[in-house]
Amino acid sequence: MEILIVEDEREIAQIIQECLEAEGFCCRVCYDGYSALRVFAEQQPDLIILDLRLPGMDGLEVCTQIRQKPVTNDPYILMLTSRGEEIDRIIGLSTGADDYYVKPFSPRELVARVRALLRRRLREGGHSELLHTKSFTINLEQHIASRHLDSESPKHLDLSTSEFKLLTIFVKHPGRVWERGQLIEKLWGDDFFGEERVIDTHIARLRKKIEPHPNKPRFIKTVVGVGYKFEDS
Ligand code: CA
Repeated sequence: MEILIVEDEREIAQIIQECLEAEGFCCRVCYDGYSALRVFAEQQPDLIILDLRLPGMDGLEVCTQIRQKPVTNDPYILMLTSRGEEIDRIIGLSTGADDYYVKPFSPRELVARVRALLRRRLREGGHSELLHTKSFTINLEQHIASRHLDSESPKHLDLSTSEFKLLTIFVKHPGRVWERGQLIEKLWGDDFFGEERVIDTHIARLRKKIEPHPNKPRFIKTVVGVGYKFEDS
């Protein structure tokens, strides 16, 4: 597997290179967009780790140009970004990036992300089947959810189907306040017939599995008089 790292901050580029090479990947590093396009034309790497902020041509432009090139193997593109609002740009412009990663990063998590991307076989028109927040990754295709807190190694979450769905709903809309009825409709559709408070039981179970301290929830917050919201920042 060949990986092209495009990052103008040399120290970061070196850290990424070292941790990926330690995992057996073959890496090449470029420090700007123009040389990245040149190397891409010669080598056609399997995956490109592309910093958003590059001198001259920025990461989005590089991404767009790569996606326009007729190649036999479309590479996976993992965008590196440093700020929250840039994520909206990456997603909003639908540049063709497969995934993004917010710096500062943990090398271990980056390697995990790279592995996940390379394992991915199906692609749905460039639409990512991976959902991320700072502390959670959900792989919709493989039905796998994991938690990665700074203080621990990534933890696989053993969730039931409705817990997985519930977490997915939250992760897709961080900060949004949900009424119980809205969550129920998302989970079970119009067929649900019963007491709205049933959702509380599911929330409690999910909290036990994803919260470091379920009694003092850090991620799934109760909004008094309304319902719940998910926060991860
Ligand atoms: Ca940069």
